[in-house]
Amino acid sequence: MKLLSTELYGNSPIYLQNLLLSFREYVHSRKRYGMGYYRYLHQLSSMDETDRQSEQKHQDFELRLLLRHAAEQSSFYQEIYGDDLTDIQCASDLQQLPIMEEALFNHRIDDIHTQAIRRKKAVFETSRIGQSPPLWLTNTDLQKQTAVVDHFKKQHGAINLEMKRATFDHGNFVPIAQKQGAFWRDIYYLNQRLYSAHHCTNPYFSGLVNNLNDFCPDFIDGLPQAILALARYINEQRLLLNFQVITIFVETEFLAESERVEIENAFGCFVRQWSMKTDRSPFLSECVAGNMHFNMRTGVMEFTDVGEVLLTRFHTKGTPLIRLKIDEQWMPVNRPCPCGSVHPVVRKPSKPISAFLQSKSRGRVTSLYLATIQEKFQQVAPSMQFVQNSIEAIEVWISGITIVPAQLEQDIIQEMVGIFGEDMRFIVKGRSTRPLQETGPASLIINNLQFPKMF
Ligand SMILES: [Zn+2]
Repeated sequence: MKLLSTELYGNSPIYLQNLLLSFREYVHSRKRYGMGYYRYLHQLSSMDETDRQSEQKHQDFELRLLLRHAAEQSSFYQEIYGDDLTDIQCASDLQQLPIMEEALFNHRIDDIHTQAIRRKKAVFETSRIGQSPPLWLTNTDLQKQTAVVDHFKKQHGAINLEMKRATFDHGNFVPIAQKQGAFWRDIYYLNQRLYSAHHCTNPYFSGLVNNLNDFCPDFIDGLPQAILALARYINEQRLLLNFQVITIFVETEFLAESERVEIENAFGCFVRQWSMKTDRSPFLSECVAGNMHFNMRTGVMEFTDVGEVLLTRFHTKGTPLIRLKIDEQWMPVNRPCPCGSVHPVVRKPSKPISAFLQSKSRGRVTSLYLATIQEKFQQVAPSMQFVQNSIEAIEVWISGITIVPAQLEQDIIQEMVGIFGEDMRFIVKGRSTRPLQETGPASLIINNLQFPKMF
């Protein structure tokens, strides 16, 4: 990024900035789009996402490879695993290994980096997170990660590098001092035009649309808020674009349905979401059926009983990431996806997982499970609250109805028994008031067991 803050770049005419930017990207992208990229992209294309056996086999193979590599190359993993990893043959065996807390991971990161990457003088660091120390990735790591993202785009019809790509991005490739003219730059080598997200605002929309009409991109990607702002302008002005993009890819964890519709109406194509916030995040991507899948070719995602997410990432050979407890909340959706892919479907919990209730015989039950119950009965009981005052019983309050129909009561109790066990009592009650504040995140469960009464 240094180049962009130099006076040379800032004071150059735009055509020269395009050349400087292209040159810089050429140097960078040789690391990203090397032979490893093409080889892996080819391999991914030949695999069958609907074949559970082969996908599982591949995942297990990659897992053993990563573990062996970590134990041999990283002094930290050598210390905690020793030489004996023979018991770990497949993803489900991972449970035998200790969970890695983020604090420990950060603290020991120098010992976690593998020797091979340490020996390299020029290490390519990637990080978009503020405080956590960056992972050091090898070029192969980087190339495989890029190939996975590009393969996802390819599944939706967009071939990166071959097709024209318009990317809405932050970054200071448009100097701050520039107040008019072109708020975009070309990276010729990548067939990509970068649009400044900072300039996706009212005075510039018309120029942006004209430029897009001129550029005629095949696909669009980048920051959802910038694309959304532009889409709103296009819809408000009832503009007809003279190009047709194949798909719009937005990198986000969550796009509201109305926002998706806004973008799809403006550009007349599907929006597909993907997410990989940092190098420590799972790679998730949306399928044709609109579900978010965790790509099991990139690692293993585990969900603990208390709602934590553990991530093992294969393409982190420079800084192996194994069973790291990550600061993200996802829950598994244990249903087959209509798209046919066997990669697990995940989604955001509708309520934060911060609390739990106690089962007499099964231990802690997080709000995640209760959120699932709530969602199941959303139609008939839109607002539920679970209150536990003793280890023997849990009260389920339904706001907005005074008398709970017998069938509903029975169905809810049945769900509760399934989660908490048969040795507890469940009382389902209705209450006529439906205070708005109760829909806040903290209201789903109240655990009075956690706070012993003082008197
Ligand atoms: Zn799917």
